[in-house]
Amino acid sequence: PLLDGQSVDDHQITVCVRKRPISRKEINRKEIDVISVPRKDVLILHEPRSKVDLTKFLENHKFRFDYAFNDTCDNAMVYKFTAKPLVKTIFEGGMATCFAYGQTGSGKTHTMGGEFNGKIQNCKNGIYAMAAKDVFVTLNTPRYRSMNLVVSASFFEIYSGKVFDLLAEKQKLRVLEDGKQQVQVVGLTEKVVDSVEEVLKLIQHGNTARTSGQTSANANSSRSHAVFQIVLRPMGSTKIHGKFSFIDLAGNERGVDTSSADRQTRLEGAEINKSLLALKECIRALGKQSAHLPFRVSKLTQVLRDSFIGENSKTCMIAMISPGLSSCEHTLNTLRYADRVK
Ligand code: ADP
Ligand code: MG
Repeated sequence: PLLDGQSVDDHQITVCVRKRPISRKEINRKEIDVISVPRKDVLILHEPRSKVDLTKFLENHKFRFDYAFNDTCDNAMVYKFTAKPLVKTIFEGGMATCFAYGQTGSGKTHTMGGEFNGKIQNCKNGIYAMAAKDVFVTLNTPRYRSMNLVVSASFFEIYSGKVFDLLAEKQKLRVLEDGKQQVQVVGLTEKVVDSVEEVLKLIQHGNTARTSGQTSANANSSRSHAVFQIVLRPMGSTKIHGKFSFIDLAGNERGVDTSSADRQTRLEGAEINKSLLALKECIRALGKQSAHLPFRVSKLTQVLRDSFIGENSKTCMIAMISPGLSSCEHTLNTLRYADRVK
């Protein structure tokens, strides 16, 4: 938990929770909203103690985070307190990561700006785009202009332990680790970008690729982690100055699919579970040079390795939750996971 008086800039890990609004559909099926946000850093899940009267006997599970965003908060508000403060980090030569964690349907993709329903792209007001905009604004400030940094972007997906390039027709990519434990995604498309408009085009391209899979299993984006990255390099150099990674994680409820009758689903579930557990350990140890961290346990933590070990590494996690009673169990799992990250 955050100590009183500590400002956002002072700590390496920010953990927030976001409640999405109850939907029309949920209201129609008489779904009960069990989440309240009494303070800007407190969230309560009201669990019914009686199955007979769902509204009267409630047991409260109270959680405190750096921020708790109520269902009235928009993406801009969430961005302001999570990813925005980290833009500075990458200009100062650091690594930043922003994770969207939670159950399928809780608002991860909506928050990040990865929505694509076959017709409408809704990425302009998501975190990917807002961060890209601030990267270009910062790039053109007197302080950083003289550094001549080049901005590039990549977008890939990790599905069942394999990496697919979302900017190259989901081409499967290999991950290599050299003797110095430098991890590289071989052949990953990295496009140099000069404006927000160019970044938006890439995001749209990637979102379209993500939701139009060749196989039916691949089409299910709730089972994959999507990674969007903005990289800064000094002009003419291959060396990374700073990197911002945005990760739309697989639905955490998929991690418990390990009892499914379908073998493939079970394997995928086990993989998701493993990667989310490893991720928790890696975030908790942020910035510490520990040999025992489980980077290699999953592709996700392996490809993000350089973002966890640096001294100037910062991360924020946004735990998304659905407001309904029927999501209660998964919501509690999400809140407990987020609670333990810090
Ligand atoms: P996830 O990626 O976690 O599976 P989505 O982002 O796809 O969830 O959200 C599920 C549905 O809820 C989508 O139709 C989305 O537009 C809607 N939604 C999610 N969060 C919000 C929000 N904060 N405000 C309005 N609608 C939202
Ligand atoms: Mg999603």
